[in-house]
Amino acid sequence: MAKFNDPEIEALVEKEWQRQNSGLELIASENYPSPEVREALASPFMFKYSEGYPGKRYYAGNENVDTVENLACERAKKLFQAEYVNVQPLSGGPANIAVYMAFLEPGDTVLSLALDHGGHLSHGLKANFSGRFYNFIHYHVDPKTFIIDMDEVEKLTAEHKPKMIVAGFSAYSRNLDWQRFRTIADKVGAILFADIAHIAGLIAGKVLENPVPLCDVVGTTTHKTLRGPRGAIIMSKEKYGKKLARAVFPGVQGGPHDHVTLAKAIAFGEALKPEFSKYTKQIISNAQTLARTLINSAIPVLTGGTDNHLLLLDVSSLGTDGAEIEILLNDAGIRVNKNLSPFDRGTPQAPSGIRLGTPALTTRGLRELEMELIGQWIAEIIKEKQVSDSQKVAIKELALRFPIR
Ligand SMILES: *Cc1c(COP(=O)(O)O)cnc(C)c1O
Repeated sequence: MAKFNDPEIEALVEKEWQRQNSGLELIASENYPSPEVREALASPFMFKYSEGYPGKRYYAGNENVDTVENLACERAKKLFQAEYVNVQPLSGGPANIAVYMAFLEPGDTVLSLALDHGGHLSHGLKANFSGRFYNFIHYHVDPKTFIIDMDEVEKLTAEHKPKMIVAGFSAYSRNLDWQRFRTIADKVGAILFADIAHIAGLIAGKVLENPVPLCDVVGTTTHKTLRGPRGAIIMSKEKYGKKLARAVFPGVQGGPHDHVTLAKAIAFGEALKPEFSKYTKQIISNAQTLARTLINSAIPVLTGGTDNHLLLLDVSSLGTDGAEIEILLNDAGIRVNKNLSPFDRGTPQAPSGIRLGTPALTTRGLRELEMELIGQWIAEIIKEKQVSDSQKVAIKELALRFPIR
């Protein structure tokens, strides 16, 4: 660990390092980027100001920054078969602001997945800029299958004629029908925006279908399954490049974080290697093993399984709620998050759902055998509503056998 010459800070970082190493991280949005990606974040590129784009900067001395940014763009284009890439967005939220700004006027109608059905807060939450500035209409999952109701998407599109359709999620475990989204969008001339923040790594690893060729614009964070630094990128058809560039800078942001751009370039380089594809296959296999273990232990998994890196449990029929289970599991050393599930009768503070994801533990090298163990522990703790000392010891032991690199 780095030395800070500040005992208070050093102790704090050490404490967090211990907490992470001794626990099992199943929060679906988290991951551990490589030491090389982390090293890049402390590189001299951090010191630079470079408002503008390669070859057109508002500051001198950007010849190396230009090379880094071009390299990151080239690698992302190759990874996702994108025509245009912007690597400057600081995170997923700001990237989405820029996408909306590029294509919409305030008050325009946008169709997106309802938040409590798996959507993201930047897809129209009233308290978020998106819900405040645009007229979001939501589609839902089917009440019986919990699969996105594409007939409803089609019906709402015909009825509201949205200027944009957002396809993407933070809590949904099944594949999206990208082609059907495209067909529906084309019927009213809507922009099709895929927000692949959660699944970008699985797409880069070629284990999930790549929507980039089908969509007008695609945004993603770089720090979830893609295993890069915290940040985001936007991809689109060439013809939209100019207006997206203007929306990111000067529309939404000032100077790009060039050290993060360097880290993105490194992460994209890693994702282009065959090992990354193997990693993403393992993520899905781990998630499916975890789902199967929980189902075999009579814990309800929404949709009966998963196609990607995450799964959703509904614990309301077991006499508990997501908040209680999140706290119990955290106490046991298993980190998950509570989640509103579709048609939830609970509250956001005490929802029925739990979201689990396998990207972080897969990075640490855990495989099917360990997923079975973890699934059994989770099932026991949910059913007993308590954690034993022997469980705590075993969980910590397992975590310490797979240290963070
Ligand atoms: C995580 C996520 C974001 C936001 O990313 P931040 O980097 O946390 O701002 C946007 N969209 C979706 C679908 C996400 O899952």
